[in-house]
Amino acid sequence: MITEQLLSGRYKFNKDFIPPRLLETQQESRILFLNEIHRKNKYIRIAECPSCGKGDFTKISEVERRCLPSDIVICDFCEMCFKSSILNFEANEYHYSKISYALRGKDLSSDAIEKLFAERIELYAYPRYSFISHFVEFDCDSDLIVEFGCNDGANLFPWHEKGFNVLGVELDPKMVEFGNRKNLNLNCGDFFNYNFAEKKPNLIILSHVLEHVSDINRVLDKLYELLQPDGYLFIEVPGIRSHALGDPMIYFDVEHNYYFDLNNLSKLLKKHAFNIVFADEFVRILCTPTQNNINLSYRYVPLSIDKIKANILKLFVDIITPQNRSLYDLLKEGECNSFRIRVLNKLQMMYFQHYYSSIGKSRERNGNA
Ligand SMILES: [Zn+2]
Repeated sequence: MITEQLLSGRYKFNKDFIPPRLLETQQESRILFLNEIHRKNKYIRIAECPSCGKGDFTKISEVERRCLPSDIVICDFCEMCFKSSILNFEANEYHYSKISYALRGKDLSSDAIEKLFAERIELYAYPRYSFISHFVEFDCDSDLIVEFGCNDGANLFPWHEKGFNVLGVELDPKMVEFGNRKNLNLNCGDFFNYNFAEKKPNLIILSHVLEHVSDINRVLDKLYELLQPDGYLFIEVPGIRSHALGDPMIYFDVEHNYYFDLNNLSKLLKKHAFNIVFADEFVRILCTPTQNNINLSYRYVPLSIDKIKANILKLFVDIITPQNRSLYDLLKEGECNSFRIRVLNKLQMMYFQHYYSSIGKSRERNGNA
């Protein structure tokens, strides 16, 4: 049963309301979504919580940031947050091939793709590479690094540069062609079709992918099967307890079927027999199928200005983070723009920035990044 308890009046869907801040092309793709998917009711209803299997939810929103319909619920039993009606297979294909890029206001000219690729390498790919390498030492002579939903392949670039064997899998042929021009070994296809019979990946990267999938349990099962038994899975998703605090409406996205926090994603991973090595509320998680003893004492981060700042910020974050607050109440506070939540949001984001940066710099000093 679904109980309606929207975060506020603006979370009610109104098909006639046109968000003023959208570009003309975004408005057009929004109308395409309403006509071709919503009006034709191309949805699958989710009756059971993907995490605990129970069927009582609280509906917190009917819309997302571009005022498209998006029923978002929180499980009354386990606090899993997800969309209670997702696009069916046909609508999903249609959305990602005909609507998604324009809706997100993406420029697909060659120059724009090239520029974005360079930016993504510098701003995100190297920091992610340093972060993962901080916890696990991979061997560039033997280990295979795979990314699913790799887009242009930017995340794989640092690994490729360090001499690793890389493989990226992406549905968009245009991005695959682009990445292959950069020698990144990208394949066009669906990851469910892979089996890696000869050589299983030692690291699988899923960066801003898991929130988009239709069936999280099926995906986690498949990942477990694909990975080397002592391999690692790196997941990054926009955490609801970090990214949604400023304004939950801006955080909700029609393409996101799941809204993870540290708690609900950790539970799902454990349910699928993954052992967690590192996890935070950002959300970044590093986990492994192996149940052998993993050294859970995090690797030492050398002293730096970033480390000192991160430690001080963490102290404040821990002090002002409301204890035992339900996800609903936290989002409601974010929606009401409470002073405490605004401060928490700022400090938490600054903490993550300095913490990740302190790890990156330690790698640079060791000559590894
Ligand atoms: Zn549940």
